Amino acid sequence: MPLIRDRLPEPQAYYESQDLALLGKGTWRTTRCAFHGGSDSMRVNLRNGAFVCMAGCGARGGDVLAYHMAAQGLGFVEAAKDLGAWEDDPQHEATRRPRRPSGLPARDALALLREDAMVVAIAAGNLAHGYPLSEADFERLREGAARIQRIADEVGVDARW
Ligand SMILES: [Zn+2]
Repeated sequence: MPLIRDRLPEPQAYYESQDLALLGKGTWRTTRCAFHGGSDSMRVNLRNGAFVCMAGCGARGGDVLAYHMAAQGLGFVEAAKDLGAWEDDPQHEATRRPRRPSGLPARDALALLREDAMVVAIAAGNLAHGYPLSEADFERLREGAARIQRIADEVGVDARW
């Protein structure tokens, strides 16, 4: 997760940096509401950064990130970046996890191979009993062989002769 929560500022330091005087004692402190202008209606939690306006202006949130978003009109990512709590290194991310095309699930691949194997067995049985291979059967066998080749390629098997 690109948000590094540990890097969010301490609630007390953050709220003071927002020009708020934190009054009272204990976990919840009283300060002015920067959203509707109330002089002492905002309560902020120094432990987790939660805030709520008691005057009912609707300002509330669970941490300093939520406050920063609301107070500065920023989106989640912008606010996290602004607070220095966003790890943004897509290049690094890309090199660490080399992208592979999503392969055919093994279960599906096996189901296809089983079907192809059945076609081959039936065609071989017909030939063994003297029945000529029809054009349609021949086409199915060619398709099956091509499909097996593709599946082998996909799982990295060197199936070329
Ligand atoms: Zn308010």
